[in-house]
Amino acid sequence: MPQTTPQLPTIRLENLTLLMQSWGVPGYRAKQVLQWRNRGILDPAMMLNIPESLRERLSSSLICEPLKLVQRQCSTDGTRKYLFMLTSGRLKGKMVESVYIPEEKRGTVCISSQVGCVLDCPFCHTGTQDFEGNLTGSEIVAQVLAVKQDILKEPLIPELKASVTHVVYMGMGEPLANEEGVHESLSSLTDPDGPKLSKRRITLSTSGLVPQIDRLGEIASVNLAISLHAAENRLRDTLVPINRKYPLQELRRCLNRYSLGKQRHITLEYVMLTGINDRPEDVDLIAGFVNRDRERVNLISFNTYPGSSYTGSSMQHMNEFAKQLISKGIRATVRRSRGQDIMAACGQLKAENRDLEEK
Ligand code: SAH
Ligand code: SF4
Repeated sequence: MPQTTPQLPTIRLENLTLLMQSWGVPGYRAKQVLQWRNRGILDPAMMLNIPESLRERLSSSLICEPLKLVQRQCSTDGTRKYLFMLTSGRLKGKMVESVYIPEEKRGTVCISSQVGCVLDCPFCHTGTQDFEGNLTGSEIVAQVLAVKQDILKEPLIPELKASVTHVVYMGMGEPLANEEGVHESLSSLTDPDGPKLSKRRITLSTSGLVPQIDRLGEIASVNLAISLHAAENRLRDTLVPINRKYPLQELRRCLNRYSLGKQRHITLEYVMLTGINDRPEDVDLIAGFVNRDRERVNLISFNTYPGSSYTGSSMQHMNEFAKQLISKGIRATVRRSRGQDIMAACGQLKAENRDLEEK
């Protein structure tokens, strides 16, 4: 089997220690390198307490920076959107997006798991782009680290102790269609020698791949968000086509099995599209689907993009819709839209820069 080059974003302490010992370098150096890495510094040249010769060895023996920042946009509300180019491997030259969302007491990074998506939800911009492939665990984790580095260089909110407190898999791609990369990234993000994020601060959004949700529950049981978008099969077959394979009744049984910690819940995401899924009968359909003890509904405003044939419901209608759900005993919230001035919805920065992508 060909030896794969070790990747700095995801390498484990014990493996880096062994590798360095094989170069005749004392074990404590591996810890120092990972301290830099966990703060978001992936370029060995910036690791100031590491001897020059070791920095060079690291650069030549490991893939240290699997992503190169191509573009960054900053919104007036503090949201930052990043476009990264992959620097190695099968997807070299392709681009992915990540978004950083600062709030009073938390900093959330929204990461991508694939370049494009094959699932073709008709309202989703990523779904309209070509599918190029799955990101590796290292390319997924590197998004979190690269954002950390950017915040370190240009801090946003001084009172925020840690720049990145939460990670959401809600960027480009269907994370559960890339189990290998996503499982590796989860184990690395939660590694005590890594960025050390708690499972409770990680949320994975999926369109509803049932066997993969079951497996996720077994290995990681992170917070789960489900792209519901319709609570009857006929409509969901169109809006979320994977519903034809795993219809609502199967999804229902699967969600009931998913293991939740104390005080945790599953989020049902519902993007509101005028005249499509925001009708009065949709309130009743949702009420008939939700498991009130374990789930809450998050109404999302539609982010439009050039060429889209959908219109988003008005904020007033969304608030009214939420009220009706609440009157039926459902916990429902309206997701505040962030970074609207920079179109911080998945797939949009990449679409604007498609000509930069290497073919
Ligand atoms: N593939 C996964 C995660 C990525 S998309 C999934 O489908 O869940 C993250 C969320 O954004 C999903 O709920 C998705 O349906 C929603 N979404 C996609 N396109 C959107 C758009 N144009 N406006 C608002 N939400 C959108
Ligand atoms: Fe893929 Fe999610 Fe977009 Fe559907 S909504 S096309 S599953 S990224």
